[in-house]
Amino acid sequence: MPLTRPKPVKVVVLGGGTAGWMSAAALAKLLGDLVEVELVESEDIGIVGVGEATLPHIRGFVERLGIDEDAFIKATHATYKLGIDFRDFGRLGESYVHPFGSFGEEFAGVGFHHYWLEMQRQGRADPLGSYSLAVEAALAGKFRPPAEDTSLASTYGYAYQFDATLFGPFMREFGLGIGVKRTEGKVVEVCQDAASGDVTTLVLEDGRTVEGDLFVDCSGFRSLMLGGALGEEWEDWSRWLPCDRAAAMPCSHVTEEIEPFTQVIGMPGGWRWRIPLQHRIGNGYVFASAFMSEDEACSAIRGAAESMPLADPRVLRFRAGRRARSWNRNVVAIGLASGFLEPLESTSIYLTQMAITYLIELFPVNGPIDSRDRDEFNRLVDMEYDRVRDFLILHYHATVRDDSEFWNHVRTMEVPDTLKGKMELWRETGRVERYADGLFYDASWIAVYVGQGFLPRRHDPRTAIPDPAGIGRAMGSLQQAIRQEVAAMPGHREFLTGRAERLAEAP
Ligand SMILES: Cc1cc2nc3c(=O)[nH]c(=O)nc-3n(C[C@H](O)[C@H](O)[C@H](O)COP(=O)(O)OP(=O)(O)OC[C@H]3O[C@@H](n4cnc5c(N)ncnc54)[C@H](O)[C@@H]3O)c2cc1C
Repeated sequence: MPLTRPKPVKVVVLGGGTAGWMSAAALAKLLGDLVEVELVESEDIGIVGVGEATLPHIRGFVERLGIDEDAFIKATHATYKLGIDFRDFGRLGESYVHPFGSFGEEFAGVGFHHYWLEMQRQGRADPLGSYSLAVEAALAGKFRPPAEDTSLASTYGYAYQFDATLFGPFMREFGLGIGVKRTEGKVVEVCQDAASGDVTTLVLEDGRTVEGDLFVDCSGFRSLMLGGALGEEWEDWSRWLPCDRAAAMPCSHVTEEIEPFTQVIGMPGGWRWRIPLQHRIGNGYVFASAFMSEDEACSAIRGAAESMPLADPRVLRFRAGRRARSWNRNVVAIGLASGFLEPLESTSIYLTQMAITYLIELFPVNGPIDSRDRDEFNRLVDMEYDRVRDFLILHYHATVRDDSEFWNHVRTMEVPDTLKGKMELWRETGRVERYADGLFYDASWIAVYVGQGFLPRRHDPRTAIPDPAGIGRAMGSLQQAIRQEVAAMPGHREFLTGRAERLAEAP
């Protein structure tokens, strides 16, 4: 007997920013005939229009959708990113790179960083970054994609830095091309079923209506359906992450070089970003309004600009936290509508991507939503948010900076118990809490702990077993191999411009 196909689930995505178009495109592409996707967006309201730095996972997203990487880079004016260069975080005047890559290799079952800690105790180690190919390549301004084998050249990953105002439209073109229906209009009312509370219909300003089975709320900070209509509770994390404003200001390029990394610089009231794209540099000052006024931040970002500003500073307001549940009834919030963690580690687009992935895995293809799927989605999303939150707080808390009220606050504040436990484990044993899923594994935590001068009291005693001279030689050989590898890499600009297919047309 022929199998009868289930009726397609009608998915309505509200919002045409990065989150909305990523969700619509991925659902349409990866669920195919199982769904019918309609996206509603309002040109009058517009998009937040920031979000330029990403994590390596974005590459998997682009690839799964079958998008050509060069075409993507060209359309979004993107550059390659090997990590983040942090300055003035642990201590004024100090810097380190958090790379998309590892530091050395495990030996005899003991992580490399334990050997580094032992050699450092003996005064025989160079900075940790010198044992990472990603760090050395980034600092040398070099780039090429990693090798797909197990050699040293495979020990890093990369992400993109792109123009946020071009990424959404690129995903829109892609989505429209695979059958997503776009409806332009402002939603003024969200109708719910009286009995179940499920959302049934969106009513537009001009009276048109859009009906659906499942609603994806990508309405940005407004969170029109989840936060608004369903009143889902907001968990506020501003006591740990007090930054709640950003003054963003694009500038022209300063030099011929394009750094293959994002720069993050600690400032008296927070920090500022510097993100090199093909055609300009993105700058912004993320700050806490409790410690600094918007005018002060705008004048600080103007003062920090190394080249010609391409626009006046634009102030964005936000708060750190997330909705208690990202999926309630038949509404799934993705992107800023679900929560926000400041862009210190470029995690927001990753959190969007991860929510889309979990939604596709748990999608109600065979009928009504199963509450167990919904609970699992919420558990996974919460876990991701909580881990990112703790990692961000670490950057502020593991500092000796005492030069402003802001840094005094974050240095001395109480941190969540989950982070307290991780920091204690590291301080006492040199070990990093392990987990199977989620973002930021050992190398990331080690980069920040060591980079910010938060060194452990002890490390793995097994580092004493091998002959110390042999370990010293092995570490020296690794550095030598890294130097050779970096010398053979093309410059970032050279690699980028090596193929015309990647180059954006001049604006
Ligand atoms: C200062 C700052 C810096 C950031 N930097 C980074 C970064 O480096 N890396 C990173 O990963 N992320 C970053 N982010 C986050 C990133 O900008 C967002 O995750 C991303 O842009 C997704 O936004 P969104 O689509 O959820 O919301 P939005 O872009 O705000 O889109 C909301 C959409 O909903 C629509 N809408 C709203 N209300 C209605 C209505 N009533 N009717 C119809 N349509 C409606 C709007 O028109 C719009 O299309 C940053 C965020 C900020 C604030």
